[in-house]
Amino acid sequence: MFTPPLDPKKNIKPKVAQLCEICHSRKALMKRPKNLQKICKLCFFCVFETEIHNTIVTNKLFQKGERIAVGASGGKDSTVLAYVLKLLNERHNYGVEIVLLSIDEGIVGYRDDSLATVKRNQVQYDLPLEIVSYRDLYNWTMDEIVACAGIRNSCTYCGVFRRQALDRGAGLLGINHVVTGHNADDMAETVLMNILRGDVARLDKSTAIITQSSGSPIKRSKPFKYSYQKEIVLYAHYKKLDYFSTECSYAPEAFRGTARELMKNLEAVRPSCIIDIIHSGESFRLKPKRVKKAPPADHIEVRSDGSVSLQRGNSFVDGNRCERCGYLSSNRICKACMLLEGLERSRAKVMIDRDVSTDGAAKLGRTLEKLTF
Ligand code: SF4
Ligand SMILES: [Zn+2]
Ligand SMILES: [Zn+2]
Repeated sequence: MFTPPLDPKKNIKPKVAQLCEICHSRKALMKRPKNLQKICKLCFFCVFETEIHNTIVTNKLFQKGERIAVGASGGKDSTVLAYVLKLLNERHNYGVEIVLLSIDEGIVGYRDDSLATVKRNQVQYDLPLEIVSYRDLYNWTMDEIVACAGIRNSCTYCGVFRRQALDRGAGLLGINHVVTGHNADDMAETVLMNILRGDVARLDKSTAIITQSSGSPIKRSKPFKYSYQKEIVLYAHYKKLDYFSTECSYAPEAFRGTARELMKNLEAVRPSCIIDIIHSGESFRLKPKRVKKAPPADHIEVRSDGSVSLQRGNSFVDGNRCERCGYLSSNRICKACMLLEGLERSRAKVMIDRDVSTDGAAKLGRTLEKLTF
């Protein structure tokens, strides 16, 4: 068990009422957002890190010798995640190799600045960094997508593309495990959203700490599943971590925004409601569906284009692959390629419309000239 060091200023004795409720020796500096316990800074670091360590160990997230990619955006969650994982890996000897993996969606004024933060983190934490861009993978940036398809569905496009980009980035690095900074608030929001939408299928998976698409060799895990957003911010603040705090210029999904607002109001009345919602989500049991499961693969190979080869017994079979890009897909064409097709069609239409409108403007100009002279 890790114990925080003693206070160097031990001559200054705080009043009993001000003492930390954990160590009873240092002055309480904060009310812990999770349970309103009055604690000192060092005890906060200790409980915050220990809870994450317990989540990792209880759920057997890592295996010795494993290489893991931390989805790094430069924001507070992923910055704290990279910092804490490096620290816990050294403290508890997990024996994992950590790599930062960033996605450049191509959002000027947001992602370019946040990537500059990740590049600084790379130096500060001495971790390798790989950046994969939408431009290279899809030949579109998010700014171009929004200009073409409007802002309303920006997060839908972005979410589908990012998921695939992370898998492809991990494939490039030869890594089968991507760790993300999704926290307890994100998870509780997702549970609430799925309940409010009656989306039973998604509700089933929304509290899983490890997720893996069927047949996919890339697993994803969330070590911050039980960490409150407010505590992540406090940790980053007290540890003086270098992170980027500007929100994306494209508003998050309207419905998620509403669920977030609802969560914040509930949390203000009862802080434990975030964990309670997650526990409720975990307790939902759906009637088991009768699905024929493919036997587990003995060996999985990820190619750099995102496609996979699964070894079953002595034979090698390809996982279902998109006919266009070769990426793993349960349909003939993957979701990203379907979205790209729609975008290409709208781009072509915009160009035709522009040509027509230029023709129209030229015609109007000629008519006006005739009328004037
Ligand atoms: S807010 Fe939406 S558009 Fe912006 S980075 Fe997030 S998912 Fe992408
Ligand atoms: Zn203390
Ligand atoms: Zn595809």
